[in-house]
Amino acid sequence: MLCQKANGYSDMNSLLRFLLFLCCGLVMSSSVAFTQRSALPQPIPMPAAITSPKDTPYVGTIRLNVDATDTERHIYRVRETVPARGGDRVVLLYPQWLPGNHSPSGRVDKLGGLTIRANGNRVEWVRDPVDVFAFQVVVPPAASALDIEFQYLSPVDTGEGRIVMTPEMLNLQWNAVVLYPAGYFSRHIMVEPSVRLPESWQFATALETVSTSGGTAVFAPVSLETLVDSPMFAGRYFKRLDLQAPGPAPVHLDVVADRPELMEIKPEQLAAHRALVEQAYKLYGSHHYDHYDLLLAVTDRMGGIGLEHHRSSENGTIPTYFTEWDKSPDTRDLLPHEFTHSWNGKFRRPADLWTPNFNVPMRDSLLWVYEGQTQYWGFVLAARSGLWTKQQALDAIAATAAAYDHRIGREWRTLEDTTNDPIASSRRPIPWRSWQRSEDYYSEGQLVWLDADTLVREMSHGERSLDDFARGFFGIEDGSYVPVTYTFDDVVHALNAVQGYDWNKFLHERLEAHASGAPLDGLTRGGYKLVYTDRPSEYFRSSEDRRRITDLTYSLGMVIGNEGRLTDVMWEGLAYQKGLTVGTQIVAVNGTSYRADHLKETIRDTAHSGASMELLVKNGDRYRTVRFDYHDGLRYPHLERIPQTPARLDQIFEARK
Ligand SMILES: [Zn+2]
Repeated sequence: MLCQKANGYSDMNSLLRFLLFLCCGLVMSSSVAFTQRSALPQPIPMPAAITSPKDTPYVGTIRLNVDATDTERHIYRVRETVPARGGDRVVLLYPQWLPGNHSPSGRVDKLGGLTIRANGNRVEWVRDPVDVFAFQVVVPPAASALDIEFQYLSPVDTGEGRIVMTPEMLNLQWNAVVLYPAGYFSRHIMVEPSVRLPESWQFATALETVSTSGGTAVFAPVSLETLVDSPMFAGRYFKRLDLQAPGPAPVHLDVVADRPELMEIKPEQLAAHRALVEQAYKLYGSHHYDHYDLLLAVTDRMGGIGLEHHRSSENGTIPTYFTEWDKSPDTRDLLPHEFTHSWNGKFRRPADLWTPNFNVPMRDSLLWVYEGQTQYWGFVLAARSGLWTKQQALDAIAATAAAYDHRIGREWRTLEDTTNDPIASSRRPIPWRSWQRSEDYYSEGQLVWLDADTLVREMSHGERSLDDFARGFFGIEDGSYVPVTYTFDDVVHALNAVQGYDWNKFLHERLEAHASGAPLDGLTRGGYKLVYTDRPSEYFRSSEDRRRITDLTYSLGMVIGNEGRLTDVMWEGLAYQKGLTVGTQIVAVNGTSYRADHLKETIRDTAHSGASMELLVKNGDRYRTVRFDYHDGLRYPHLERIPQTPARLDQIFEARK
């Protein structure tokens, strides 16, 4: 290129001048470029990867000793002996990706006091520079084991996380109190666990107890996989109830409570919990445990929970679960949901969600089956067992249908994309739930499965239903609790085995839709339509009372909590249009101090009188008055029977004979 250009110059001087200019230019520009290049950061190489888990045997057994007696300070003290070979470089992992949470929710920030010794001498550990859940140790030449000590400093205040210890009870999750060697599938690492509990406390866990003495319970060795899957509830006040006698495998309801009188269980309540087990067997035609424990904490001191396992589940509910049975029906699908997970989620597991140990990332793409269909069967089994009346089940479906029919975020975000929420948002509070969406694969997923169930019932003229899918998909290998994984195509195949249809298209359409409303065809085919009246159902009202909220979602587009503070605002709803947000406090309504009843009366009045309504609201130290010209009154969701159509929803909720 340079030569061709030079031909255009008349004399040598000009050419030299040009060359000089060009050279300087090149030097200058290359110097500028050099300066810029050296100033811009470049990545340094990543450290060597941590050994990935392999499907090979682990030699030896880890001894794990947990002292759970310091309930005053909420501290679990751990002593652990990990077999090791002298001279080896070992990476110890703290569980990060927790089954059932579908997310990297391990709390390594709560691990304290980590001290490692070998033959009595201290061995320094170094945290991996990239993975903060990994600790590197070089085993001294003469050593055959690492003696590890640490504390799990569980939250003492709800702001730090879920409370798992109180003066009356504790919830021990083994993943919080164990370090394990990298390089092995967790099913190959054997652990011999023991736990010391406060004096005279009783406990329940799916683990097999070998001995109890001096407040210490020793359990038979299990794989790390089974250990993490077998948490413990223990308490000062404890009751164990048999739910399955006789039956193929023992099932117990293990209750811990803040006070002994909260465990007074009426015969009809026990009967409904027994019927839950019976109806689950009639649905699935199988069980996937050798014994099962529904761990239930009735408490407002320990943090709430609903977490599934193969042979148990952790359930935390309100203190008055038994004693004020009629007041809180909305708490009673918890046990049916978590029990169902033994089949759907634990035994049948999405192939991309199953991981070989607790530090390999999970992928959540099939949670609309794992959680969505569990949500569906949770409602169905609550109704079939008598934990709910038929009316409560219908009202619960109405509340779900209305909520998701108003989920405006569907415009930009598919149902399928919400399966990323456990990882993306970890249930942190969000300002615009209806727009951002939040784990909608649970309840919108449930509506998709209602849609599928009623479609099978319609196409087969009542001969078949989603019950047949449940039996065919979850009911295989009766008695086994070794997970069987599945893919999207397996789900389609299993549906087709029940009823020939283009299920691939059916599911893709609903998972990827940007339609304005929820998939409500299942309601219509079920013989009902979603309507709104100015009176809440008993189910809706009791849910409001329990959560101490005033739910005006379908009128003013907001939910009001304690002291008039908004806890939710509908995207582009009336409150949104007035600039109200979560956290805004309603101080007065038409010049009178805020009271929920008064606000509701005023909304009723403005529907008749045509008058407008003024709210004095407060954000921080800023007050302002907003005016609502709203005249549609209070609106609450209900289901209304469509005359002369089959009542398939009623059939779905009927107990199986
Ligand atoms: Zn669940």
